[in-house]
Amino acid sequence: MILLLANIKQLLTFRGPSGPRAGRAQGEIGLVKNAAVLMKNGRVTAAGKEREVLRHPLAKKARVVEANGIVLPAFVDSHTHAVFAEPRLRDFSLRTQGVSYAGIRARGGGIISSVKAVRRQAPANMVSQLLERAERFLECGTATIEVKTGYGLDKKSELKMLEAVRAAASRTRLEMVPTLLAAHAVPPEFKGDSGKYLRYVLDEIVPAVVAGDLAQFADIFCERGYFTPEESRSYLNACLRRGLVPKIHAEQLSNYGGAWVGVKTGAVSADHLDYALPRDIRDLRRGGVVATLLPVSNFFLGLSRYPDARAFIAGCVPVALATDFNPGTAPCWNMQMVLSAACTHMKMTPEEALCAATINGAHALGAGDWTGTIEPGKQADLAVFDASDYRELCYYFGANLNKLTIKKGKTAYRKRDLIA
Ligand SMILES: [Zn+2]
Repeated sequence: MILLLANIKQLLTFRGPSGPRAGRAQGEIGLVKNAAVLMKNGRVTAAGKEREVLRHPLAKKARVVEANGIVLPAFVDSHTHAVFAEPRLRDFSLRTQGVSYAGIRARGGGIISSVKAVRRQAPANMVSQLLERAERFLECGTATIEVKTGYGLDKKSELKMLEAVRAAASRTRLEMVPTLLAAHAVPPEFKGDSGKYLRYVLDEIVPAVVAGDLAQFADIFCERGYFTPEESRSYLNACLRRGLVPKIHAEQLSNYGGAWVGVKTGAVSADHLDYALPRDIRDLRRGGVVATLLPVSNFFLGLSRYPDARAFIAGCVPVALATDFNPGTAPCWNMQMVLSAACTHMKMTPEEALCAATINGAHALGAGDWTGTIEPGKQADLAVFDASDYRELCYYFGANLNKLTIKKGKTAYRKRDLIA
């Protein structure tokens, strides 16, 4: 199948060196005006000025689609908790009335309420729900997401979540990369004994996950009251020895040492980092760890404090942006909302934010070699937006400007014309 995407007002290729983009390179977008992209068998064959792409011998044989908008690599959302049974509407209402997170927990809300609901949920229901959510990601221009477990917290339910991801992934064009986050919290059965719970995860859950090839990454919530830096380090190292690449929830609620653990365990990304200090930024740069920032959760919680994106960029740490889509702190699947929050609240430039949501997001999933840019040889994962200037994606908020999402050269989402 040969496809020519023509009449592109602005094409953002993000062509550049291999590896995540840091410092000044984070703001380089590889802009081409009046462009076209030629794709064959799911890969990009040529991308650049339209008159040059049209000279390619395959161009004459291609099916032509008029973009009439701007084109960039489809978003790579490298941090989601997209498998959950129910929205937390009661928690939300309580929070609007000023009830604290501890207060919400005391009333039976919070993460443990999500755990109870996931444990009860039928597998088929979990799959169909995830498929509906997959459509929403595609509709907003995202073609690859990471999906974490972490609402099961026992062998049966954690495996049920991973199997649901696998089943759903075979029925949608959205690519879903699974992460085991059994170390999200200590479940009630192990209350007060995080060490015993982690041993259970390593002895019972991880071997089954590895045997079934059900996850690519292992993640842990390194935070006071959850898992200590020492526990996180030995847990992630044990997972790595079994083939699961580390990721870490680090410095989200306090400065606790998670970033350092990420560096020491060779994590592909350290995520949240609201309370990272200058020494963490130096460590992350030396360790080559991508900093994944999740400003929509700060927005949703109404926090005034956001991660210091400018400090990471100044410190030459590659920054990725993700939705953190989850029922408690970020019920948002639209990466365009994340772009807005990143520019408005973290003072990232539109160019830096778009880089963070595409190629750097891909690197946060170890997928930067085949997705996240538009250049010959790479997977044809791209999105077309109804705009004349790429900055509109960061400027309009609460909107969806996407009209076409292409995954591996095939249409994954197409906005229907209102008038046929
Ligand atoms: Zn998270």
